[in-house]
Amino acid sequence: MPGSSHGSAHADTLPAKMRAATGESVFNCYQCGKCTAGCPLAQEMDYAPNQIVRLLQLGFPELEEEALKAFSIWLCLTCETCGARCPKEVDLPRIMEYLRQESLRRGLVHPKAKDILAFHEAFLDTIRRNGRLHEVGLISQYKLKTLHLLQDVLSAPALLLRGKLKLLPHKIEGQDAISRIFERTTDHKEE
Ligand code: SF4
Ligand code: SF4
Repeated sequence: MPGSSHGSAHADTLPAKMRAATGESVFNCYQCGKCTAGCPLAQEMDYAPNQIVRLLQLGFPELEEEALKAFSIWLCLTCETCGARCPKEVDLPRIMEYLRQESLRRGLVHPKAKDILAFHEAFLDTIRRNGRLHEVGLISQYKLKTLHLLQDVLSAPALLLRGKLKLLPHKIEGQDAISRIFERTTDHKEE
């Protein structure tokens, strides 16, 4: 039997590694579908949230890989609606986050998710550099990474004139501490 849907998993399976890293067990899910019924993005997903969990429960490496290659894991907004509805207290946003990291690590990111990933990276980079969000830095990096150079460019002058966008970043006090957090979490991921 390749795996078990009765509450356990071999140590080298994705559910077991996820359990060790996050404390979340996909085997708590009994597939009632309440998470999917409430998810605002379910219609756009290739696999609904409960189906992502099911792919992991079945215990086949090729289905685990299917979950890691899914577009759904990149669409999840971490809005927590599913968690509020789940009778088994399965923390789906945490599961989705783990799957995103593992998908990146194994080079299995869905091709349609490249722009979303570029946005994540640009967002985190402005936080690492300034300790807070710098919108112009975020937009510039996102455009360079995705080559969507002219998208929404006509909105920029009005936003600048209204003071909604600052050309230069404003660094917070204690920004060094933020940089150290990034260094530590990066080191931890590479262990
Ligand atoms: S609501 Fe919870 S138990 Fe029901 S399918 Fe979703 S994750 Fe599983
Ligand atoms: S946290 Fe993600 S999976 Fe859950 S309802 Fe929100 S978008 Fe859907």
